Amino acid sequence: MLKSLVQNSLKSFSPSTSAPPFSPAQFDADVMTTYGRFPIALTRGRGSVVWDDQGRRYLDFVAGIATCTLGHAHPAMVEAVTKQIQTLHHVSNLYYIPEQGALAHWLVSHSCADRAFFCNSGAEANEGAIKLARKYAHTQRGIANPLIITAKASFHGRTLATVTATGQPKYQKNFDPLMPGFAYVPYNDTAALEALVAELDAGTPQVAAIMLEALQGEGGVCPGEAAYFQRIRQLCDETGILLILDEVQVGMGRTGTLWGFENLGIEPDIFTSAKGLGGGIPIGALLCKAHCSVFEPGDHASTFGGNPFACKVGLTVCETLEAENLLGNVKRRGEQLRVGLQRLVQQYPTLLEQVRGWGLINGLVLRPDSAIKSVDIVKAAMEQGLLLVPAGPQVVRFVPPLNVTADEVQQALMAVEKAIAIATNP
Ligand SMILES: *Cc1c(COP(=O)(O)O)cnc(C)c1O
Repeated sequence: MLKSLVQNSLKSFSPSTSAPPFSPAQFDADVMTTYGRFPIALTRGRGSVVWDDQGRRYLDFVAGIATCTLGHAHPAMVEAVTKQIQTLHHVSNLYYIPEQGALAHWLVSHSCADRAFFCNSGAEANEGAIKLARKYAHTQRGIANPLIITAKASFHGRTLATVTATGQPKYQKNFDPLMPGFAYVPYNDTAALEALVAELDAGTPQVAAIMLEALQGEGGVCPGEAAYFQRIRQLCDETGILLILDEVQVGMGRTGTLWGFENLGIEPDIFTSAKGLGGGIPIGALLCKAHCSVFEPGDHASTFGGNPFACKVGLTVCETLEAENLLGNVKRRGEQLRVGLQRLVQQYPTLLEQVRGWGLINGLVLRPDSAIKSVDIVKAAMEQGLLLVPAGPQVVRFVPPLNVTADEVQQALMAVEKAIAIATNP
């Protein structure tokens, strides 16, 4: 067994291996059925291209769902991973961890935040944000029953608190009792938010925080409106309510700015990052301004959080974003993609409604009455060698690596055009 593992790792860049062929049936027998999986097994990647176990090639416009910031097998990541595992991969937060300090320093010097806490995922980062906001409400504002307002159609994770924060009943069904202390408003609706805050805060203040995505990702690639967010910022400044932004999907350069909220002209008090932060190596971060940095020793912790391995990789992703000027690439490739997709909307007016997004998070929106669903286009695109991911039944999401090339965007546009032709004319 060990020997075959060693042999396989030595051959890791050759498409054929001596391992037994992959069995989807065995997989389904052994792994919990929490995911509806597409029937391919990916085994290798380079840049924005991945191959399956049959040697078929795909352009990867999923990137682990907006996670593989630098694509696959980026030399800087390979070097960072290799060096760090040979040096020191994990020690406890009982001790100082220089790599953690270096990543925290990069993040606070490239954002409005003053402090960082590291964990392993988006949900865990959001859990930390919820705990921080609750502690702030109790200790700084004397709120006995703190409430956090989130948006309908939002997505904040799958743990009990974050699935409660997620304003989509389909993720909550059968998991009740949900966490107390959450209320929901329609996204981008200023009047509804003002009314709810006034109602909840009538008498004694209760609202601890408002938690939103700058652009709703899972909820359908729905960009936030600047006027809405600016009014919320003003409301928070007037009342002491904290503004938490969930930057798990849109942060780390995905939108063409380092943080999604830069598109809205506001700064949050607290924000979270995960997906793209480690380029595919698990790491999450909770960041906040000094005035709400109220955690004390013992308040919050994570065994793996901020270990030397994950932080070294995270720092490498951050430094490579800068060194390779990827924000510029995100803007240019995003524009190229939207122009191409817009052409398809004009070509298929009864099927497609619009294109929306920022930078390299874009959604091709189907008409509500269209006979085919986003998953039909995703399946047809896979047949054309292009990986895409639905964002709900009506939106096809495009989230390639941030270093995707003009040629690859062109190839993806050709593949999606073919996929739509086939999906509409099977
Ligand atoms: C993916 C996502 C999460 C959850 O992240 P996990 O790492 O899966 O826990 C939270 N918020 C947003 C906006 C996301 O896109």
